[in-house]
Amino acid sequence: MQYQEFDYVVVGGGAGGCVVASRLSEDPSLSVCLLEAGGPDSSAFIQAPLGFAATAALGIHNWNFNTTPQPGLNGRCGFQPRGKVMGGSSSVNAMVYTRGNRLDYDNWTAQGNPGWSYEEVLPIFKRAENSECFGADAYHGVGGPLNVSYLRSPSPINQAFLEACEKQGLPQTKDYNGASQFGCAPAQVTQKNGERCSAAKAYITPHLDRPNLTVITQAHTQRIVLDGKRAVGAEFLLNGKYAQVRARREVILSGGAFGSPQLLMLSGIGPAAHLKELGIPVVQDLPGVGKNLHDHVTAVLIYRTQRKESTFGLSLSGLVQIVRSIFEWRNKRSGIVTSNVAESQAFLFADKAESAPDIQLALCTGIVVTDRRNGATDVRRNGATNR
Ligand SMILES: Cc1cc2nc3c(=O)[nH]c(=O)nc-3n(C[C@H](O)[C@H](O)[C@H](O)COP(=O)(O)OP(=O)(O)OC[C@H]3O[C@@H](n4cnc5c(N)ncnc54)[C@H](O)[C@@H]3O)c2cc1C
Repeated sequence: MQYQEFDYVVVGGGAGGCVVASRLSEDPSLSVCLLEAGGPDSSAFIQAPLGFAATAALGIHNWNFNTTPQPGLNGRCGFQPRGKVMGGSSSVNAMVYTRGNRLDYDNWTAQGNPGWSYEEVLPIFKRAENSECFGADAYHGVGGPLNVSYLRSPSPINQAFLEACEKQGLPQTKDYNGASQFGCAPAQVTQKNGERCSAAKAYITPHLDRPNLTVITQAHTQRIVLDGKRAVGAEFLLNGKYAQVRARREVILSGGAFGSPQLLMLSGIGPAAHLKELGIPVVQDLPGVGKNLHDHVTAVLIYRTQRKESTFGLSLSGLVQIVRSIFEWRNKRSGIVTSNVAESQAFLFADKAESAPDIQLALCTGIVVTDRRNGATDVRRNGATNR
């Protein structure tokens, strides 16, 4: 059988995959194929920043995963939204531009991963970024594909939040991605001209005319094709039919924290006993695959406010406000449609003995319900929740 062959096959067109496919295809002598299970990212729910609240609530452009019952959550299941569209979760996320703490990276190096120290990753962050907030300085870059800005139309309630933080001894910081993370500040967001700047928008859309870059959407990869123990391609379902692409050099897995280990296991790479239980022929026994996921828990504290002009959600008056705002966004790319909801950020210490902040706060300007048992994140107005 004849297969289309490329130098590189990148599986998963999310945050990681878009960057890798874009950077590899900068070299015109290399051919790159990017496979994405979801569709194109043209929807207004993706481009209009506030739309992400609807993508989670309606479950669109989303894998809509749920966890197994979690002992630490009294047996409850947790909703795990993940983007299923060009740009992956960067097309449905809250756009807050927050790097890890310096210590996160240094710890990775200390655990035996050379190249991941903060000093080594900082130039890469700077190269990626076009910082409208700070320009080029010790921590930020300009001219990179990923546009980072402040919100165009932040809610007035942010000021009240920042002042309240200060009254509690948490100072305002100019830049939580700078010298120190500690403090509170308006969110830096991955937006450009009042629109979402996803990894797809930053890294792929401007280069779709590269003759050496092939992007195939709706390509749900079923397994990595192996020649012995060497990855040589990917098999995917497209319009109900199986197809394959082959890689002369490498297959790069960028299916996300769930998609990548799942694909490895479907390809026979993972814990042998578990694969046998599922009837998957074992190619390589790798017990760590699909295990030890670390995630952070979000606790949602809901407060009502009379300041309706400062918040939004799904009540009748909220809908009128949103409809008006859609016109404003269409005409001027401003107004509450440019909101990322999580408009202010704060980093603080629950345990003062810690060497880095161990709590992150986000001020959300709509009520966020994230633990609905059947799973959806929901943004509603002023306490109009079902709880
Ligand atoms: C609701 C939400 C809000 C978030 N908010 C923020 C935020 O404000 N700030 C922040 O920094 N981070 C945020 N994140 C996290 C951030 O978006 C992710 O960390 C990041 O996108 C992960 O990148 P990734 O490339 O690993 O995976 P993803 O971006 O999820 O990309 C994986 C891609 O692989 C595709 N894929 C998976 N399996 C297959 C398969 N079998 N075949 C083909 N394609 C496949 C998926 O469809 C997806 O496009 C948020 C995430 C979510 C879900």
